Amino acid sequence: MKYIIVTGGVMSGLGKGITTASVGRNLKNRGYNVTAIKIDPYINIDAGTMSPFQHGEVYVLKDGGEVDLDLGNYERFLDTELTRDHNLTTGKIYQSVISKERRGEYLGKTVQIIPHITNEIKDRIRKVSAKSGADICLIEVGGTVGDIESMPFLEAVRQMHREEAEEDIAFIHVTLVILDAQKDQKTKPIQHSVKELRELGLSPDVIVARCNEPLLEKTRSKISLFCDVPVEAVISAHDSNDIYEVPLQMENQGLTEYLMSKLNLSTISMDDSWEKMVERMHNAKTEIKVGVVGKYTHLEDSYISINEALKHAAIECGCCLNVDWINSEKFDEDPDAVKMVADYDGLLIPGGFGERGVEGKILAIRYARENNIPFLGLCLGMQLSVVEFARNVVGLDGANSTEFDEDTPYPVIDILPEQKNIVDMGATMRLGDYEAVLREGSLAEKIYGSQNIIERHRHRYEVNPNFVERIEAKGMIFSGKNKNRMEIAEIPDHRFFFASQFHPEFRSRPGKPSSPFKAFMESMLEGKQ
Ligand code: GLN
Repeated sequence: MKYIIVTGGVMSGLGKGITTASVGRNLKNRGYNVTAIKIDPYINIDAGTMSPFQHGEVYVLKDGGEVDLDLGNYERFLDTELTRDHNLTTGKIYQSVISKERRGEYLGKTVQIIPHITNEIKDRIRKVSAKSGADICLIEVGGTVGDIESMPFLEAVRQMHREEAEEDIAFIHVTLVILDAQKDQKTKPIQHSVKELRELGLSPDVIVARCNEPLLEKTRSKISLFCDVPVEAVISAHDSNDIYEVPLQMENQGLTEYLMSKLNLSTISMDDSWEKMVERMHNAKTEIKVGVVGKYTHLEDSYISINEALKHAAIECGCCLNVDWINSEKFDEDPDAVKMVADYDGLLIPGGFGERGVEGKILAIRYARENNIPFLGLCLGMQLSVVEFARNVVGLDGANSTEFDEDTPYPVIDILPEQKNIVDMGATMRLGDYEAVLREGSLAEKIYGSQNIIERHRHRYEVNPNFVERIEAKGMIFSGKNKNRMEIAEIPDHRFFFASQFHPEFRSRPGKPSSPFKAFMESMLEGKQ
């Protein structure tokens, strides 16, 4: 196994995740099987309980793991499916060391950070990478060098450096070049962060320098000199228009070749599909305007997978995408403002939790339904489209989800009886891959080109089976089902009205767009022509 460890310096949010994913993609393009592990030094066991307001989207894996959004980038760039074990957190490591201690597995020894915690970290890295069947495993250490929380992880990878052969492990340090008032490129912060890294016994093989503009030759030489890496191992990671350009940016600077020679690897085969995909993205002509009405709209990262899935569909259809993130509370306050939905080629209502802004979303759905505007509803977006339809078409006044109104006379969305008595918050959610069977002749079947699909889930509430008949009699059909669970709602009379209980965005990939997203894009494009 070849390991590539990615650390970060100076500050967080430099795009370490995209760097990791891009390096991985380039190696995959050379014929290697690549996997990735994300280390999050926080104490939480996983991202399931974390607020998207603070942390961005919670990404859901096929096995139901609720993980950091960087795993979404890995899956998309590497076109792979990961498991919850690919996200290590301090919480997971300590939980398992403590339970081993309780079982007496440490034979009476004092249990310590070195070696017990560090051994647990190394064991997990090695097991997970071996199990994935990959040739190369990238390991991104979250946070920045010098953070208290990341110390045991950095110590563990330092030990790995000693234990692995020199040609089996490489270190990339992602850090920042700042521009001073005269617009000069300053490398002092880089020098400091590399010094800090060295104090921990780690020395970088490659420095990826984030900067607003391309690194000047003299900046490169300076970094090379002060940080003791060859000039060709200093990579300029200047701002690009789109994250999908980053692998090309790194490839063009020879990073892949450099890493392959460090790791004693040679090119097996060449895959240029990524480059072609980026070319298609640049050649896109027709602009498509999508309105996404949600709750966490001020934070771009909160809906990253939706944004990416829309992008995949747009690239495929030759469209350039213009997404507006609209806070639904705007419509709660001023119901008339909902008419702005007409300014868009289509409306998307994403998933979400909690009551805030729900009525605004319902107004937006009603507007799209009544005005024949293409609509894609995801998870909560699907549930609210059922509520809207029940209220305004079926005539069930006051219909609601029991998530928002426990005493509603018409609980069209509810928790299924078998889930009601579970008290552990983690256990009440339906998470990860589940199958759905699609109705013959439905839009769903047409979109997927199949009657059996698998998609990822993250929800607690469901369409209440007791209302299905009444709703279907009025023209909204449930065309995808998993036994008594409704997976897809559609309105055959509408131009495009498709809503799913699952999250198709998590399985969408560049070059392989999610079917519902692609169909949504096509219907928006059709409306334009
Ligand atoms: N809050 C809803 C539920 O728990 C929807 C969840 C979601 O949109 N991810 O079922």
